[in-house]
Amino acid sequence: MYLTQSLHKALQQCPERTATVCDGRRHSYAEWVPRVARVAGALQGLGVAPGDRVGILALGSDRYLETIYGCWWRGAVINPVNIRWSPREIAYSLDDCGTRVLLVDRHFLGMVPQLGELSEALEEVIYLDDDAPGDLIGYERWIADAPELDDQIASHQQLAAILYTGGTTGAPKGVMLSHRNLYSGTLGQMAAVQRSHHPVALYSSPLFHVAGMASVVQIAVRQGTHVILPGFDPAVVLDTIEREGVEETFLVPTMLRMLLDHPDFSRRDLSALKYLRYGASPMDEALLLRAMEVLPGAEFSQSYGMTELSPVISILSGWHHTAEGRRAGKLKSAGYPLPNAEVRIVDENDNDVPPGQVGEIIARGPMVMEGYWNKPEQTAEALRSGWMHTGDGGYMDDDGFIYVVDRIKDMIVTGGENVYSAEVENALLKLPEVAQCAVIGVPDERWGERVHAVVVTAPGQQLDEQRIDAHCRDLIAGYKCPKSIEFRDALPMSGAGKILKYELRKPFWEGRQRRVS
Ligand code: ATP
Ligand code: MG
Repeated sequence: MYLTQSLHKALQQCPERTATVCDGRRHSYAEWVPRVARVAGALQGLGVAPGDRVGILALGSDRYLETIYGCWWRGAVINPVNIRWSPREIAYSLDDCGTRVLLVDRHFLGMVPQLGELSEALEEVIYLDDDAPGDLIGYERWIADAPELDDQIASHQQLAAILYTGGTTGAPKGVMLSHRNLYSGTLGQMAAVQRSHHPVALYSSPLFHVAGMASVVQIAVRQGTHVILPGFDPAVVLDTIEREGVEETFLVPTMLRMLLDHPDFSRRDLSALKYLRYGASPMDEALLLRAMEVLPGAEFSQSYGMTELSPVISILSGWHHTAEGRRAGKLKSAGYPLPNAEVRIVDENDNDVPPGQVGEIIARGPMVMEGYWNKPEQTAEALRSGWMHTGDGGYMDDDGFIYVVDRIKDMIVTGGENVYSAEVENALLKLPEVAQCAVIGVPDERWGERVHAVVVTAPGQQLDEQRIDAHCRDLIAGYKCPKSIEFRDALPMSGAGKILKYELRKPFWEGRQRRVS
């Protein structure tokens, strides 16, 4: 089970099918796979050996995909750098896992001198565009001169990627995923939900994130067409879905909201869209219902997981989103464990808790990471007794469906009661004037922690604390309602589109110890 097997099979079975579409360029599998083999040859020419780490710092493109597969073809390990990071953070990740070769596109070239100063590991920079400045070689010339290397994968346990976690909860850790991990994740998902062969899939979320990489792996297994955008721009996404006849895509809830709110949404023909996957952070139910209503031809599915799980462990299938399926009442659930995964809900001593009771979600299966790079203690802690401890609070119902309530770190303990920030946010988001919000625990003399809301008002709307308070009291228990509210123009977001709550919490907790940091 090597990830490059998909390319051999596509060459054999559908060489004429379009493999990549990007920036006006299109390559069939017959054209694309030899390019991948040349990237591998070019990497070998730079002294990259199997097992070596290769970094990439770029917006999404067909060349990004070529680099990923070129690395794998060479047996090397890809380190896709978070494009939102500062040079210091990037240098940290390069040095942490010893990345000597870095591929950079024109958007990040300006950062290279600083990275050269900050990073000890970095030695070679390869330019991903053609108009090479200075003494750099343009990308097409770099691979044109390279030999087509034979596939070098030796074992399915070989590392495929080191992915630094989103950083939503603090210092990033390098998650080591093997070929076996990523392949098993894809096969588990494909077994859980039936999907067509040869799909046209759109990538508008960052490729450095595990969700992007895992989609690439799955679409390659299904011999599909990868349509790649440099980033998420709602107008371009809508236009591309119409123009390329995009059949499936993955969206985090924030992106889905931006698409639906865009004036072009109703002007575009989106009828080709067959499958819409969402996940990565809690989904607001009102938003989901609205999306299903305006996209009646699309099958919705939710996935739950994390980088450490390659990244999906459970899926709520399309059927549960249909009128008939909704009667089963699982729409609030993150779904059912994949056929090749086991999931349990446990207390602090790793004992199972009964159905309906909240505990920590833990998981086991071939998609669980090999560990955190260079962090044996954190690895041992996360993988206690062979189970990945997700740090997510959740429960299971009598049918074995999983419900994610909150990250344990985001839970607010106020006067001995547990408040799930996600539940309060869901209530706040039902107010049409609220564009975005985050609910956090801040120190409180009397209650230990108090519920604090940070709210971004929708453009042109007015909102005050009294209206929010009355609205919340109508929907949720008094102790869950925000005791203090702060209005802001924007919230700090991670590269993957998630709200960085620890940054919001930080100023409140300066000099104090929180229950969990
Ligand atoms: P870090 O680990 O560095 O703090 P991160 O946890 O945000 O960053 P990811 O691995 O991208 O990095 O995200 C995994 C987390 O996202 C899960 O632990 C969970 O809290 C949240 N998540 C993923 N899918 C869902 C979902 N369907 N519903 C609710 N939350 C989800
Ligand atoms: Mg995490």
